[in-house]
Amino acid sequence: MNTASAPILQVKGLSKRFGGFVALDDIDLDVGQGERLGLIGPNGSGKSTLVNCICGTLQNETGTVHFNGHALNGAPAHKRTHLGLARSFQLPRPFASMTVADNIRVPLLYTVRQRTGLVHSHIDLGRRCVELLALVGLEHLAERSPRDLSQVDMRKLELARAVASEPKLLIADEAMAGLSHSEVEDIVQLLLRLNKDEGITVILIEHIMRAVMSFSQRLAVLVSGRKIADGKPDEVVNNPQVVSAYLGQ
Ligand code: ADP
Ligand code: MG
Repeated sequence: MNTASAPILQVKGLSKRFGGFVALDDIDLDVGQGERLGLIGPNGSGKSTLVNCICGTLQNETGTVHFNGHALNGAPAHKRTHLGLARSFQLPRPFASMTVADNIRVPLLYTVRQRTGLVHSHIDLGRRCVELLALVGLEHLAERSPRDLSQVDMRKLELARAVASEPKLLIADEAMAGLSHSEVEDIVQLLLRLNKDEGITVILIEHIMRAVMSFSQRLAVLVSGRKIADGKPDEVVNNPQVVSAYLGQ
């Protein structure tokens, strides 16, 4: 983590229950400005629940979340988006009746309205939409329906929609599940570009370990709602507790 600046995201003592079931138990997690963090753990270990608590889709019972100097507790999801938090969903949810380009214009328009209180000119909006399509490599599919997209292109659209809100932090929740070897590499390269060229801090939640290892500067591991390791990727994957709880499965 870059220790020279304050963390962009600071989660402290966060717990979340569903009825009597403890999904997250006293989670601490700091993410540095510009960092690439891998978040791994078995299915059901609480990764998506943590994302939902950070992004405001779910409210945690205890603990605090600070983002870019703001205390987020209780803030609704749209306010967190406005502050620069974005996530992609495990199952992409594009508007099926709109074109690929319009699927990007919707969050763009929303962001511009939120930031400036004005409706941007169609020219500016169109230009940014073209930039985003190019960034993810979907220019040639701009006027198609999301229904026509392959799985990997659907993931790229999902990431473009998240990036349209001009996030400071992007959380990619299993953006590569079900993709081929080369498609996984494609998405890793795209996330690296977002981090290096656009300066976006990224949390990558992923099971595909070669993707996790090539992308992450640091790894955190959740098992049964608890963080059991957090550190340098090569040390974390050799940690006996991590091997027995997750990687050795
Ligand atoms: P992961 O993303 O690591 O696979 P999740 O965060 O989705 O895990 O789920 C963690 C646990 O919380 C699982 O046991 C899951 O069944 C449970 N869970 C998640 N969301 C809900 C919900 N809305 N209501 C009840 N239980 C939930
Ligand atoms: Mg999940």
